[in-house]
Amino acid sequence: MSSADYSLVLRNGHVIDPSQGVNRVTDVALQDGRIAAVGDSLGPGLVEKDVRGKYVCPGLIDLHGHWWEGSSWGIDPDICLNHGVTTAIDAGTTGFINFPAFRKTQVSAATIRVLAFVNISGVGIPTTLVGELEDIRFARPRETGHVIESNRDICLGVKIREGAMTGPYGAEALGKAIEAAQSVRLPMMVHITKGADTPHILRQLRPGDIVTHCFQGRGDGILSPDDARLLPEVSEARKLGVLFDVGHGAGGFSWDVARKAFEHFFFPDTISTDLHRYSIARWAFDLPSVMSKFLHLGVPLADVILKTTRAPAMAIGRGDELGTLKPGAAADLFVFELEEGSFPLEDTHLRTESAARRIRPFLTIKDGTSVEPGSYPVRLRELYECDHDLFRFIEQTANPR
Ligand SMILES: [Zn+2]
Repeated sequence: MSSADYSLVLRNGHVIDPSQGVNRVTDVALQDGRIAAVGDSLGPGLVEKDVRGKYVCPGLIDLHGHWWEGSSWGIDPDICLNHGVTTAIDAGTTGFINFPAFRKTQVSAATIRVLAFVNISGVGIPTTLVGELEDIRFARPRETGHVIESNRDICLGVKIREGAMTGPYGAEALGKAIEAAQSVRLPMMVHITKGADTPHILRQLRPGDIVTHCFQGRGDGILSPDDARLLPEVSEARKLGVLFDVGHGAGGFSWDVARKAFEHFFFPDTISTDLHRYSIARWAFDLPSVMSKFLHLGVPLADVILKTTRAPAMAIGRGDELGTLKPGAAADLFVFELEEGSFPLEDTHLRTESAARRIRPFLTIKDGTSVEPGSYPVRLRELYECDHDLFRFIEQTANPR
């Protein structure tokens, strides 16, 4: 017979929960895989951890990554549990053809919670060798809508990449993605890279749609090429309720573009990694290191937490359950330290800056179960000669803004 009120109590941590406006030293109590309470002098707990000097926030939600190992891009999502992420969102690595296998072999097998945007291309994003929409016949609104409808518990909307991977079909493919998203009444996530008709795309988007790679610097991004001002369509889209996501990846984050955007008071709604086989190879990064880049750019810690917890939870319509420490929510937490020193942080234009602070993971809790950093070894597939084409491309195109 236990006299404990809770299964676990984290004591004396600096709790930051933007969903409730909490930003102070207090306790968090868990019971039955749920948040039970946030407040002073809670307890007793069956297990108690004193986390004095550390920060405690809701488990992180990484809005953009690639978690289907049947694609040359995909990696095992469970490695994210090493660094505070409790919900990993797949950004369209699969489409209607391979989504069922993704669900069966990867989503169901994962310890981390995996949710997904389904690609408008039936094959998803299988490879770097051929763009998934270079043949427009792969764009299938009805089948995409059907798969989403049949998997509503984990499907969040429709993904489309706009750029070289759409060949000449950018506008047509976008129309099909919108058709699919409207048919299931869910948002769309749109990747914009060089070759995208970004002003046209922005004019088509609806409230709740998400633009990812908002600080990419290889052309056709959010800044005007002439004077580096924000495109007027960017401000219009934001007013309408379109969201802007970081999606760092292997080519999606430029210090220069981020700083220019900040000068125009344009900050991202959500901060995500776009972690995949290529971005992890070059940058070996994780969500806390991308968050640290935004601390370095001057974004306050509570806002960085907001953009990796509450904001992505709201963007995917799961604000009651995820990204919050409200009683009854999933017992997902991230405990971390703010380490001081000198830390090199590189953008995807191969420019390194030295940051004075870094977020250092201490403990992840997923559905009430504790995971120490390093619990999930990173095992990556081998790289082939053709995989290096992407790294060569990144190096060759590193310099233009
Ligand atoms: Zn991506």
